[in-house]
Amino acid sequence: MKFYRKELWFHTKGRRQLINITGQIQQCLDESGIQEGLLLCNAMHITSSVFINDDESGLHHDFEVWLEKLAPEKPYSQYRHNGFEDNADAHLKRTIMGREVVVAISEGKLDFGPWEQIFYGEFDGKRNKRVLVKIIGE
Ligand code: ZN
Repeated sequence: MKFYRKELWFHTKGRRQLINITGQIQQCLDESGIQEGLLLCNAMHITSSVFINDDESGLHHDFEVWLEKLAPEKPYSQYRHNGFEDNADAHLKRTIMGREVVVAISEGKLDFGPWEQIFYGEFDGKRNKRVLVKIIGE
């Protein structure tokens, strides 16, 4: 059994951003040399997400609009969490979009369905944040 671990760093210019990290994850898999196994990828922060969906700009706009309806950023005063912080909405958005993904590894590739791509979802950016990649297999 082989084990591989890596942290990927992100620092977005804006408060919210979706980044396709599929290429970086495949690069991790290539580095690991693992052909058959499982890959876990999770956000290491409670105001950002890792999720799988379509790389389509209309959908990404729809996510932003939908998340703002569910947990609007402003007014900050609507949230009890926002005593010393202003990121209650980001905690809620992250919970909806998820913490991690698990992907099967087959023949050294991410064993995806036809349109699956891995995204880092930032909801409280403008600072350094990490994603963990853990791969186990043969
Ligand atoms: Zn907070």
